[in-house]
Amino acid sequence: MYGSTKKPQNIETLCDLVMAYDPKAKREDIAHAYEYAKSAHEGQKRASGEPYIIHPLATALNLAEMRLPAPIIIAGLLHDVPEDTKKTLDDVRAEFGDDVADMVAGITKLGKIKYRGIERYIENLRKMFLTMAADVRVVFIKFADRLHNLETLDNIPPKKQYRIALESLEIFAPIANRLGMGEMKGRLEDAAFRYVYPKEYAWVQEISRSGREGKQEYLDKLIQTTEQTLGDASVKNVLVQGRAKHLYSLYRKLLGNERNIARIYDLIALRIIVDNVADCYAALGIIHSKWTPLKGRIKDYIAQPKPNGYHSLHTTVFCEDGEIVEFQIRTREMHATCEFGIAAHWAYDEQGKIALVGHKSQAPEWVQELAEIQKEMEDKKMYLQSLEELKIDVFRDRIFVFTPQGDVIDLPEESTCVDYAYAIHTDIGNTATAAKVNEEAAPLSRVLKNSDMVEIIVDKSRKGPNPDWANFVKTRQAKSKIKQYAKSRIATWIKGMIPGSK
Ligand code: MN
Repeated sequence: MYGSTKKPQNIETLCDLVMAYDPKAKREDIAHAYEYAKSAHEGQKRASGEPYIIHPLATALNLAEMRLPAPIIIAGLLHDVPEDTKKTLDDVRAEFGDDVADMVAGITKLGKIKYRGIERYIENLRKMFLTMAADVRVVFIKFADRLHNLETLDNIPPKKQYRIALESLEIFAPIANRLGMGEMKGRLEDAAFRYVYPKEYAWVQEISRSGREGKQEYLDKLIQTTEQTLGDASVKNVLVQGRAKHLYSLYRKLLGNERNIARIYDLIALRIIVDNVADCYAALGIIHSKWTPLKGRIKDYIAQPKPNGYHSLHTTVFCEDGEIVEFQIRTREMHATCEFGIAAHWAYDEQGKIALVGHKSQAPEWVQELAEIQKEMEDKKMYLQSLEELKIDVFRDRIFVFTPQGDVIDLPEESTCVDYAYAIHTDIGNTATAAKVNEEAAPLSRVLKNSDMVEIIVDKSRKGPNPDWANFVKTRQAKSKIKQYAKSRIATWIKGMIPGSK
């Protein structure tokens, strides 16, 4: 977990961390980047008065906690050099090579964005998305950089604090979430929360504190009991951890529950980490035979993972003394993925570098969609507008629906059968005539719900989509395909009107 290391925040700690997981890392390379950055930033101070180098170092430590390969750590150490010192990007390139220099260049380009109204907001998103599509490693560095800045906002003027915090809540955290980086999302939100909504923050902090007050002993005992119970049932290598809920996510939950803390069931939560999937289900059964589960609170995100890649079993049970406790059960590998999302896949990737675009197994679909948009939209204005639509697509909650073959399709909430059809294939969208939802006939405009099974009936002789569909579809993809078709039809029609053009 981030920040859990009590070790001193210095270059030795950084090297130890990286050497422990990256077999290709060379201690002297990391130390060299550190010395280079340190001398470049010589004499510069943070707002706190501390030497500037603590910032790139903290950024690199955040990256190392995500177990990212050494070149990313090195780029993290150097990320502010061309921007803030006499050393140029070319100097960095000459010293550390193209790969590191390209990442630093990406960060420098991202660096100049400021939060000023909606235009700027969209422009920021555009830059983030394009950077991500080009090299998602740069976005990891940006997150690690932003996290340290957020956690050290105290000495900065209030107006700037607010701007940085708001931007973190509205842009950075949702992107981290969509990349499956749960721990990064939680930390960004919690650090930003107090500056954006100070009163609400104080209220939630108090609720969380009093909810857990005097429960530490209970929790320690429960961890022991759980480990013992599972061990006795011969589930091996069990690790049980207490889990404090992130404050901002507790706040969101309270808002959805009439601000009533009695309706929040995961204030006390334990995480069970085991060796393999079979042990996950075994552990769930053992927990349920020891304690009574609450109805409707058992969730199998292993059989049906969340669209951002989240895997776990969840259950809520009545433990000793009637205390309600949530358990999350997962393997070690799932645990890494839940905390670090796409960065975890990265860390396990042999090559240490993945081009996201075009790698279906690695890239979330919406990142691939970016590349498509880039190609599609030459006109600047259209580009901005479609990014606004994309933003809504990306940040809206997602549902899963199933094809008759059992494939899972990931769609934004309130998507319709037509959105589903276009998500499968443009031709299916263009020739759709009817739909079946859960084996019953349904209109194409039907709004889909989580885990619906959807079948689209096509008519091959159909020329194209009904332009009226544009009025109810929700995804950018469906909307643009329908518009595209309408436009080409008008063009053909106009052509037909001009004498001699046939
Ligand atoms: Mn920085």
